[in-house]
Amino acid sequence: ERAERYNFASGPAMLPKEVLEQIREELPNWRNTGSSVLEQPFTSTAFKQLMVETEADLRTLLTIPDNYRVLFMQGGASAQFGLLPLNLLRSGQSADYLESGHWARKAISEARRHSPVNVIASGTEQAFTALPPLDHWQLDPAAGYCHVTSNETGNGLQLQEFPELSVPLVADMTSDFLTRPLPLERFGLIYASAQKNLGVAGLCIVIIRNDLLRAPPPGLPTAFSYAAQAEQQSRFNTPPTFALYVTGLMLRWMGRNGGVPAMAAAAQQRSRLLYRCVENSDFYLCPQRPADRSPINVCFQLTKPGLTETFLTEAERNGLANLRGHAAIGGIRASLYNPMPLSGVARLVEFMTDFERKHG
Ligand code: PMP
Repeated sequence: ERAERYNFASGPAMLPKEVLEQIREELPNWRNTGSSVLEQPFTSTAFKQLMVETEADLRTLLTIPDNYRVLFMQGGASAQFGLLPLNLLRSGQSADYLESGHWARKAISEARRHSPVNVIASGTEQAFTALPPLDHWQLDPAAGYCHVTSNETGNGLQLQEFPELSVPLVADMTSDFLTRPLPLERFGLIYASAQKNLGVAGLCIVIIRNDLLRAPPPGLPTAFSYAAQAEQQSRFNTPPTFALYVTGLMLRWMGRNGGVPAMAAAAQQRSRLLYRCVENSDFYLCPQRPADRSPINVCFQLTKPGLTETFLTEAERNGLANLRGHAAIGGIRASLYNPMPLSGVARLVEFMTDFERKHG
C-alpha cells in the first residue's frame, strides 16, 4: 500500500497540492478582508480586483488579443451547447458542426433544439477512433459558425490543427484548455468548463471576438447573453465566486510553472510515457489513430476485456483512482490534466507492467 493517491478522473480533476494548501490557509481571512472568499460580496473592491487579475492572468497565459472579451459564465459547457446558437445565429441561419465523438454529439443535439445544424464530417464510421481530416469537411460558407470539439474527453481524440475559416470557428475546449498554445485569431469563440485543467466546477470561461457580441434575442435569458455579460464585466448576476477564486489560483500556478508552453511540454511527456507502455505490449490496446490521439485523455483497452474490472480494482488499491473509461465507451481512461505530475503516470505505467506480468 502506498500513501500518495493519483486521481485520473475525467473531471472534476485533481488540483495541485500547493493550490489546495493555499485555499485552506487563506480561507478564514481572505486578502485581509476579515472574512473568507466564500462570504465576499461579488461587488466588493477586493472581489472585483480578483476578477480583473484573473482575466489579466488568463490574457497573459494565452496571449489573448485585445479584440476578444473574456466572460465568466455558469451552467458549464453543456449550457454553452444551447447558448451558442441562441447567441450567435440569426433567425433561420444554420451552423456547421464536426461530429468528432461523444461531446460533439452532445453539442450537436443541443444546438438542434434551437437551429438547423449541418454535420460537416463525422467519425461515426470509424466508431470515433479517428478524426475526419480537414480536407473532408463539407463546410457551408453561409453558416453562422463552425463548431469543433478540440479534445474528445471520452474518445481520447484531439484535433491537432485549427483551420482558418471564412466563418467564425467555435471550439469546445473543456478538456484541453490551457494545455497547449492557441492561434487565438483563428477563433470566433472558445469555451471551457474549469473543472479539468483550471479549477473546480461552476465556472465556464468564454472567450469571444467583439464583433460576435450582439443584443440578446427574445427567448434568451439575459444572464446567458454574451453581450449582456460582456457589458457588465460578467457581473450581470452573481458570478460563481469560489470557482473564480480557484481558477485565479490555478492561473497563477500555471504562470509560476512556465505557462502554457510548459503545460504543453508536460502533457506530451506524460502521454508519451503512457502511450509507449500501451504500444509496447500485446496486453493493452489503443484503437485510436496515432495522429489523432489525445495527450490529455488517454483511452485504452485490455486485450482480455474480462480483466478490466480486476485492473480497475487493483489500480484503485494502488492509489491510482478513477481510471474507468467513459460509461458509453468502456475500457480504461487516464485523464492527464495540467495538475497531474509525471510521477503519477510513471506509477501507472509501473502498475500496468506489473499487472501484465501477473495476468498476461
Ligand atoms: N465538453 C467536453 C469536451 C467535456 O469533456 C465536458 C465534460 N466532461 C463537457 C463538454 C461538459 O461540461 P460540463 O459538465 O461542465 O457541462
